[in-house]
Amino acid sequence: MANSTAPGATPATPDKDPSVRVRFCPSPTGNPHVGLVRTALFNWAFARHHGGTMVFRIEDTDAARDSEDSYNQLLDAMRWLGFDWDEGPEVGGPHAPYRQSQRMDVYADVARRLHEAGHAYECFCSTEELDARREAARAAGLPSGYDGLCRTLTDEQKAIFRAEGRQPILRFRMPDHTIVFEDLVRGTLSFEPKDVPDYGIVRANGAPLYTLVNPVDDALMGITHVLRGEDLLSSTPRQIALYAALAEIGVGSGATPSFGHLPYVMGEGNKKLSKRDPQASLNLYRERGFLPEGLLNYLALLGWSLAEDRDRFSMAEMVEAFDIAKVNANPARFDLKKCESINADHLRLLSPEDFAHRLVPYLQRAELLPAEPTAAQLELLAKAAPLTQERMVVLSEVVDMLGFLFVDPSAFTVDPADAAKALTADARPVLAASIKALEELGEFSPEPIQAALREALVEGLGIKPKFAFTPLRVAVTGRRISPPLFESMELLGRRETLRRLTAALDALPSA
Ligand code: GLU
Repeated sequence: MANSTAPGATPATPDKDPSVRVRFCPSPTGNPHVGLVRTALFNWAFARHHGGTMVFRIEDTDAARDSEDSYNQLLDAMRWLGFDWDEGPEVGGPHAPYRQSQRMDVYADVARRLHEAGHAYECFCSTEELDARREAARAAGLPSGYDGLCRTLTDEQKAIFRAEGRQPILRFRMPDHTIVFEDLVRGTLSFEPKDVPDYGIVRANGAPLYTLVNPVDDALMGITHVLRGEDLLSSTPRQIALYAALAEIGVGSGATPSFGHLPYVMGEGNKKLSKRDPQASLNLYRERGFLPEGLLNYLALLGWSLAEDRDRFSMAEMVEAFDIAKVNANPARFDLKKCESINADHLRLLSPEDFAHRLVPYLQRAELLPAEPTAAQLELLAKAAPLTQERMVVLSEVVDMLGFLFVDPSAFTVDPADAAKALTADARPVLAASIKALEELGEFSPEPIQAALREALVEGLGIKPKFAFTPLRVAVTGRRISPPLFESMELLGRRETLRRLTAALDALPSA
């Protein structure tokens, strides 16, 4: 018993240790969020670094809050992020099932045994009574957790409560000694009994709570390391005590896992990033076109780094180097600009083919490409994509950057604000001279196009290059910011380029 109250007084885990078993165990409520992804990432990197086992478990015992849609989103997110797991949904494993909603008989059995062994007791206090006593304790400056009133009820007293129509919850009896453990991130932590009161493990209606099912499954599934957010730190001393009780009644191996609590993630205004924060939603990053490897690289930096001067790394590099002892306990700030810049770095690292390939769904979503793009469309994309690879931060930018090439000519429009700035009456001689020059041009490729336009506009009309090309850019690509102009014209082809220049000329306001 004494031994199991001070777990994790562990030597550092050796680099290769196949006995390592970690778990990622989200509850399927709402949309996956970045905090959850960071937890999954650190567990996964830890498991893979040590050559251990990654268990994926779904904690869906709260029927009122859990949803099938959220469950499916979790699985989809894990696949999109590129995580693999050795045990869990869709892959099975020796401790199946891995959805807690399918393990209710296990929890009922363990709860009964804890009760019989005296580690848990029936508590008949109503919520109102608990609230009133908590208030009174607070007012008197006393600890305000559960006061242990039902700890020593006799059978007669229980019978009276039952006769009053009260339904008991099951409450875990905390030991009355200090609980000390070595947090893998924070070092030695210790909790006094007055700060960790007895706590509910089964509701009055028989439904088991997180407080029970999470450590019971960790024990049964042989979890060796629990890496999770700091928000769960207060449940750790309770779980350590529960582990000792489970060992006594013969549930699990009897060993207590080591715990490591990952730092808080702070959002805007230095407030904790909440899962309801729009900035926290994983879907947002997927829709904007973050690469999974870019997003994960950034999330790794929320508490860890490969080396002081290395912000950008691959998941393989992270796995190779990951060390939970190097995780920083201080809160980490979520910095969207930094996240974007890391993503842009990863975009640049893709091969041109891969980059073009990853743009396809974004063009499809904007209906600029059909579900089955033609060979010609894919060829055009392969040529156009390299013009943007250095300029993009997220993949969805392709819609604005290359939309002009894929849009049906009859649906092409210029951005009204850009047109108002660039397609003024002054642009008339520029457009007219450009049309003439391009009509007369021999080979329609970037260098000759550039030479012809320079000659017509800069030398011919005496316009500074800075001003000469902007009206052309807006007329041809629809925007003042676009991929390189002469390459864009080539990809669009002479006919369509001239058609757009002529349409812009015709639409110019009169001087
Ligand atoms: N299902 C819990 C949650 O999503 C897991 C917490 C833990 O890792 O222990 O918060």
